Amino acid sequence: MAGTALAPMDEHWMRRAIEVARSRGSDPSTSPLGCVIVLDGREIAAERNQTQDLPDATAHAEMMAIRRACEGIGEMELRGATLYSTLQPCGMCTMASIWSKVGRVVYGAGRDDVHPMYFEARHVDTLSFITDAYRDDITIEGSCLRAECAKLYYPPDADLPRDEQANL
Ligand SMILES: [Zn+2]
Repeated sequence: MAGTALAPMDEHWMRRAIEVARSRGSDPSTSPLGCVIVLDGREIAAERNQTQDLPDATAHAEMMAIRRACEGIGEMELRGATLYSTLQPCGMCTMASIWSKVGRVVYGAGRDDVHPMYFEARHVDTLSFITDAYRDDITIEGSCLRAECAKLYYPPDADLPRDEQANL
């Protein structure tokens, strides 16, 4: 489903997601990705990327936040919740958003604002996962505090050593 307009509270919650992203430093080498899940105006999860800490390749901020949110409310489904992510969710996290039944996904920086290392596939448009979902009660919107969020990440043209490129 096509996105609706950003709501006034969206910037507030995205600022919170940025704060979570920066909780262990804001250098791009620390993978500062943050995610907040809000239900009925209340934060039910706030998680940072934890892939290296755990270590767990699936421990993206959105995956961890979905897990904590479900545990917190004791439900498998997060209907009516909004998931805020500082960066456009990858394919895994977009699909996890669909499966977890969140109602809205709002992200900050988009795919074109950052280095390709943040995405798993060259050309797959993960936004179409949402529009193509069987569910018709989920929306995705980007560019919420886009510039602030983009500053957390390696820019599109960064000349990164291979070791820093997470997707290779
Ligand atoms: Zn992800």
